[in-house]
Amino acid sequence: MHNFAIALHGGAGTISPDTMTPEKYTAYTQGLKKALDIGYELLAARASSLDAVEAAVKSLEDCPLFNAGKGAVFNNAGKHEMDAAIMFGLDKTAGAVCGISIARNPVQAARAVMERTQHVLLSGAGANAFAREQNLPCEHDDYFYNQFRFEQWQESLAEGKVQLDHSEKKMGTVGAVALDCMGNLSAATSTGGMTNKKYGRVGDSPLIGAGTWADNKTCAISCTGHGELFIRSVVAYDIACLMEYKGLSLQEACDKVVMEKLVAIGGEGGLVAIDAAGNIQMPFNSSGMYRAMRTSNGKEEIAIYGSDEKVV
Ligand code: ASP
Repeated sequence: MHNFAIALHGGAGTISPDTMTPEKYTAYTQGLKKALDIGYELLAARASSLDAVEAAVKSLEDCPLFNAGKGAVFNNAGKHEMDAAIMFGLDKTAGAVCGISIARNPVQAARAVMERTQHVLLSGAGANAFAREQNLPCEHDDYFYNQFRFEQWQESLAEGKVQLDHSEKKMGTVGAVALDCMGNLSAATSTGGMTNKKYGRVGDSPLIGAGTWADNKTCAISCTGHGELFIRSVVAYDIACLMEYKGLSLQEACDKVVMEKLVAIGGEGGLVAIDAAGNIQMPFNSSGMYRAMRTSNGKEEIAIYGSDEKVV
């Protein structure tokens, strides 16, 4: 049997130990651990990497601490417009939604786009209609209401700023990548985007090649960070290209893109990545990134800051 592994993130940004209470730290790491276990157990039961990344992301979407699904941030109009994507590395099939506002789990809607339509990306009203038509679990606005997010939005509104979730810029996203025992790679990403973003704004997460990518030939990637800069850098595909055309290792390609190319244009954030051999990279150029990984070779890690005491 092929070795298998999973890595996931719950967003990157200015996450400082100074503003982190022990209770918050425990809650975040528990949220990550729960998603990690769900994904890993599926892989151990010989499920596909596609099922594993979808289930792990779904778990993070259901956790109000992370900016996706239930915990999605408010946009400038006081609404939730969520983006998600999923991709399978065997045949590079992909599905995505953007500006969806009613799906409890946008990643499920993305997978339905991939499997039940001839399209890759559905947006806004069409994505909502599709979620309803497909009988995916849908929710009213109050499901996504969260006092903390509301205050975060009010603050951004007063300051006239568009913010990423886990920083002064308030960013946040969730995502997972996995290699299954058949040797197939998958990636999935889901986000509420940036607090106080303009109506209709779409980030990198649902854009195949920018925030999400999977190809068995190279790697699977899920990004988090300042979406506009990740789009301009075509981050996920750039890493795959550096591996495919230049022969870089996963680590070399990730370092080049996250620590050099993104830094050069002020692109704050990070990503989780896995290659066809099951090597995992979780680089970020911000002060922290909620992240977790587990491999069938017995490696496990859950961490938040740059040089964490390892939780596992
Ligand atoms: N990349 C996401 C976006 O720009 C936000 C994030 O990852 O924090 O929508």
